Formats: sequence, C-alpha cells, structure tokens
Amino acid sequence: MTNKNKWDVIVIGGGLAGLTTALHLAVNNFSVCLVEKNKYPNHKVCGEYVSNEVLPYLKSLGIDPISVGAKYISKFEITDTKGNPIKATLPLGGFGISRYTFDNLLFEALKNKTDIFFETVEKVIFEENQFQITTQNKTVLFADFVVGAFGKRSNIDAFLNRKFMQKNSPWLGIKAHYDYDFPDDTVALHNFNGGYCGLSKTETGAVNACYLATFKSFKKYGNIEAFQKQELSKNPLLDEFFKNARPYFDKPLTISQISFQEKKPVENHIFMVGDSAGLIHPLCGNGMAMAIRSAQIFSGMFIQLFQKGDYDRTAMEQQYANQWHNEFDERLKAGKFIQRVLLNPNLSKAGFAMVKKFPSLVPKIIQKTHGSPL
Ligand SMILES: Cc1cc2nc3c(=O)[nH]c(=O)nc-3n(C[C@H](O)[C@H](O)[C@H](O)COP(=O)(O)OP(=O)(O)OC[C@H]3O[C@@H](n4cnc5c(N)ncnc54)[C@H](O)[C@@H]3O)c2cc1C
Repeated sequence: MTNKNKWDVIVIGGGLAGLTTALHLAVNNFSVCLVEKNKYPNHKVCGEYVSNEVLPYLKSLGIDPISVGAKYISKFEITDTKGNPIKATLPLGGFGISRYTFDNLLFEALKNKTDIFFETVEKVIFEENQFQITTQNKTVLFADFVVGAFGKRSNIDAFLNRKFMQKNSPWLGIKAHYDYDFPDDTVALHNFNGGYCGLSKTETGAVNACYLATFKSFKKYGNIEAFQKQELSKNPLLDEFFKNARPYFDKPLTISQISFQEKKPVENHIFMVGDSAGLIHPLCGNGMAMAIRSAQIFSGMFIQLFQKGDYDRTAMEQQYANQWHNEFDERLKAGKFIQRVLLNPNLSKAGFAMVKKFPSLVPKIIQKTHGSPL
C-alpha cells in the first residue's frame, strides 16, 4: 500500500490471531503491517470447528462466516475407543468452516486496509525502544510494537530461544477433507489408542477429519494409511468412516512437534497472540476462538493505551499478560485435565461411565474449556 518501512505495529504471522489483530487495528486507523510467509488461501491442520463465542466480535469487524456457507453445529458426539457413544447438545454451539476459507475471509477484509508482506520473518530485534524485523529476503521493517502471531511452532520461537522449544513434543496432527454422509449440525470426537479424531462438516459440504496422535502410537505403523486402517479403525465409527469416505486431498496434511507446554504472553517485548501465547488441547475445539479472543484483548488494550510518544510499554505488557492469564489459564488447565483423562485407558473408562450416568456433566465440562460470547 505504501513505500514506508515503519509502522505503529508489525504483526508477524497471518493465521486467525494475526489477521484479526491487524484488522482490528487497521479499522481503528492504526498503521499496521502484516508479514505472513504463505499466500492465501491455503489448508491448515485444524479440526475446523469454531465456537460461536467469536461471532459477535467477528461481526463487529465486518466478518460473517455464515455468509460463506459455514455450517451451524449444535450437537456433540463423543465415543470411547470401542465406539460407545455419548451425545450432548453444545451449550453455545459453533460452526464448521475450513481454514482455507476462514483465513481467506479475514485476509480479503484486510488486504486493502494495510500493508502485507508475503515473506518469512527471520529476525526480530528490539533496540532503543523500537523493533527491527528482517525477513529471509533481507527486507528490513521497523515498528514501535510487534505482535507475535506465528502459531504453534515457528523459526521465530527458535530465534527467540523460547523455553518450550528446548523439549521435543510427542504429538502429531493429521487432517484431510472427505466426501461422506455426515450431519451438518454435529461435531464428533472419536477416541482411539493414542489419540482422538474429530469429524465435522465444512462450508463446502466436505467432512473434515482431523486427528491428534502420539508419535509413539503412530511409529508402530510407519505410515498414515496403515495407522488409520489398523489403529484408528479399532473404533467402529472410525472404521466405518475410513472405509467409506472418499478423500478430496491427494494426501493428508500433517504437522508434528505440537507442544502444549506453557508459553509467555509477552516475550522480548513482543505481544504474543493465538498459539504463540499458548495452545489449548485440540479436543476442546477452542483454539481458534482463543486465537481470535487474544487478538481482541491485545487490540482493545493497545487502542486504549497507545498514544504516540506517550505510552508506558511496561504497563502495557503487564496489563496484556494479566488479561491473557485471567481469560485463558482456567481453560488451558481444564483442557489439559480432560486430555489426560481421555488418553489414559483406565481414567477414560471411569470418565465415560461417569458421564453416561450423569449426562448433564458433558455441557458443564465443555463450558469449562470455553469462554462467553465476545
Ligand atoms: C490437530 C489439531 C486440531 C485442532 N482443531 C481445532 C478445532 O477444531 N477448533 C479450534 O478452535 N481449534 C482447533 N485447533 C487449534 C487451532 O488450529 C489453533 O489454535 C489456531 O490455528 C491458532 O491460530 P493462530 O493464528 O495462532 O496460528 P496459525 O493459524 O498457525 O497461524 C500462524 C501463522 O504464522 C505464519 N508464520 C509462522 N512463522 C512465520 C514467520 N517466521 N514469518 C511469517 N509468517 C510466519 C504461518 O504461516 C501461519 O499462517 C486444532 C489444533 C490442532 C493441532
């Protein structure tokens, strides 16, 4: 949009958190620059079920996922590794939309409002109260503030030597879209030994199947096809799915090293949003809502406190960190607990027996990992 190389804010990473932050600031007339390494649209490993809690906020930014065909989802089904089901109505509900379309919807709303560079950021240096960002193409950009929205694991995390990068993570994620007869209004979570697989419809009518698995359980089979046929298919619901569903992708998308370790919401003076600040266990179906909510928290705080030449950086960092922890700590804790129960055969058996007896517990458990409408 312009030839300048200095902005109020540079946002690194244009997933949901980064796009929302850039859009929120841009519509409030701040000078913002987004740097994203990939062109839109593109598919991402994600369950693609989004909690309705984000709808009012998205609407306030002029974004309406339902207008591009997102499916309303109000029912939840969970099965244990043997396929025994528990069904519930979702307390707040959500919608099914592919990341291909969702991220692109935000990008289209943003693209004429701000400067966007499609480059990979390599270095972020904070010196003399300003940031200098260098990309792989040696483009150098400057800003008063930087927002880190670079997702679960990025070269920037390595550059910043963030603590969670020092440990290997045992989790991998696999996803693809399929042609399969599945209700529009349902999100299903089917457990298998070493992981769980979510199924839900997207705006195209395709069913998204996305699973999280331990590397240990996957390693025994060595490839996706054998893993799905021999391990996931021990759950009869997944057996029926993988036998009959016709894949739309040439091959599934995969990611590894998914870390659920604690991160800091502000590091090296960079305000982290979305997965860069912390990742909730995917079974909660709340990571995208958290990414969008953290963008809202940062942007609201920033708009309120930033007055050119007259801001207190330390106070801003403290306020954002406090707000982030107040909003998300409990959800992250609940998600961690639920994942531990589900993936432990004995605890899972006891847990399923308990909710079978008291089905009203299911919406209560879901509420623990979700927020209120924004
Ligand atoms: C298996 C699995 C299933 C999930 N299912 C669900 C679900 O059903 N519902 C839900 O709500 N959440 C789900 N989640 C969580 C959800 O996907 C994330 O919380 C969400 O994508 C976070 O958005 P984000 O913007 O923080 O990160 P991302 O969407 O990952 O965006 C980060 C962006 O940063 C860019 N980037 C990285 N490094 C650089 C760099 N150096 N320079 C420039 N750009 C860079 C990347 O290209 C990317 O576009 C799931 C997660 C997993 C792993």
